[in-house]
Amino acid sequence: MPEKVIETINLVAGYGKMVILHGIDFYVYEKEIVTIVGPNGSGKSTLLKAILGIAKVISGKVLYKGKDITNERLDRISRMGIGYVPQTNNVFTNLTVKENLEMGAYIIKDKNEVKKRMEEVLEIFPDLRVRLNQLAGSLSGGERQMLAMARALMAKPSVMLLDEPTAALSPKYVDLVLNKIKEIRDSGVTIILVEQNARKGLEIGDRGYVLVTGKVAYTGPAREI
Ligand code: ATP
Ligand code: MG
Repeated sequence: MPEKVIETINLVAGYGKMVILHGIDFYVYEKEIVTIVGPNGSGKSTLLKAILGIAKVISGKVLYKGKDITNERLDRISRMGIGYVPQTNNVFTNLTVKENLEMGAYIIKDKNEVKKRMEEVLEIFPDLRVRLNQLAGSLSGGERQMLAMARALMAKPSVMLLDEPTAALSPKYVDLVLNKIKEIRDSGVTIILVEQNARKGLEIGDRGYVLVTGKVAYTGPAREI
């Protein structure tokens, strides 16, 4: 049996006293791409945030490789190997591409290790190599999304949570970003992908979940959704 990297069991979560997720059973196997789709406000981002300890878990559990991480703090969760790319504000526009990547490696103490890691990450993102000394603010929306994913990869995550990485991108970049996500998975990283662009997002997913008003309305092979 493949390992479940992340699992939620009967997860009830929200903000303050407001309940948004009503008993979510969710899991992702090692090296899978799981796509989460659903209408605006259905709780897709909240599910990622509840896994990350940003939204509040009221009852139920979040497991990471079988270990209970329910309501664990975000900084501890990142150090355990869970990477997160939020939808907006995901790069420092006043820093260079290189500085952004270095910040992503905060977890690695040794400078040579950081360099080595940057080389590995730039193999997946060769277009960023030529932009290393430019400010992230000068990149296009699509390039910034690539940088955000590259930066999250610098910390060697075993699983990445991506919140609508293709939102607001031109069709050319949608395909590029989704292809990069496949490459990242092929390099051994498990992917949880929230996608507004449902059709395209489901095309690259192994399995999918449809959330409606904070509940799983359907789950199954992504291509059958
Ligand atoms: P979208 O497709 O628009 O990104 P979503 O499925 O990601 O939607 P969520 O962002 O999870 O939806 O929001 C679910 C509900 O939780 C919404 O009703 C939203 O208003 C509410 N909500 C989200 N963030 C907060 C917050 N920080 N405090 C209070 N309520 C919030
Ligand atoms: Mg959202």
